[in-house]
Amino acid sequence: MKLVYSDQYDLNLGEHVFPSVKYKLTKEKLLRDGTARPEDFMEPAPATDADVALVHDRDYIHKLKTGTLSYVEILRLEIPYSPELIRAVWLSAGGSILAGREAIRDGVAANIGGGFHHAFPDHGEGFCVIHDVAIAIRRLQRDGAIGRAMTVDCDVHHGNGTAAIFAHDASVFTFSIHQLRNYPFPKPPSSLDIDLHDGVEDEEYLAELEHGLDKALAKFHPDLIFYLAGADPYREDQLGGLKLSLHGLELRDRMVFEKAHSKKIPVAVTFAGGYARRLEDTIRIHANTIRAGREFAS
Ligand SMILES: [Zn+2]
Repeated sequence: MKLVYSDQYDLNLGEHVFPSVKYKLTKEKLLRDGTARPEDFMEPAPATDADVALVHDRDYIHKLKTGTLSYVEILRLEIPYSPELIRAVWLSAGGSILAGREAIRDGVAANIGGGFHHAFPDHGEGFCVIHDVAIAIRRLQRDGAIGRAMTVDCDVHHGNGTAAIFAHDASVFTFSIHQLRNYPFPKPPSSLDIDLHDGVEDEEYLAELEHGLDKALAKFHPDLIFYLAGADPYREDQLGGLKLSLHGLELRDRMVFEKAHSKKIPVAVTFAGGYARRLEDTIRIHANTIRAGREFAS
């Protein structure tokens, strides 16, 4: 199983609730635990501006590249702007494109990053600058590598950017399972949304996920699934209000891979959010996702 990673994925945020050092720490843990070997890792090239323009407005891209976002636009991102940030998110988008290609080849692959599902064509918000997964889908479609794609978004927050970007695109099915009473507001409709109440635990979550996946995959057969494996449905998360255990999150990952595998659909993993009180829990959740995915890779 190929794992796409760059040391420059770090978003250069300083002290911030988004621990972007998690990418590096997850890579190190995967190597330390023997889940991955050094040769499993691939270095991405940054997405090209033409790739990014498959999703984002030219004007927004120009502002990002020239550092001319307004004060309000930067506030909405909720992370500090820097040239390193722009470098990181262009690389992350390139990483998701590469992970998609590798998934098509091996059944499963992962970007040790990405999942920036709150980015819209004309603005970023909620720590998400550009939408790496949407860019990857559009690029892989343009290359003829895939026709139809599905996003399976298990981050605790609704995938508002994903829903908006693909609202009128019948070639992409967007599925989001998330906490209802949490950011973002409003939540533009995905192809299928599962709104969970506060405090949902493992058993109910897994039943809802299974129901949703079965429903989505009965309606739509994609050539590739992008799995946004957010670590923030965890009960110790600072920005989430669900109560999944570490084991419940492992069962969640396994369910996504199993359902896709049973229909011979490749899965490209991206990490999305994760704000556990203890950083090592976030790292463990992401590493567990990779370990589960490995069992389904050829
Ligand atoms: Zn999230």
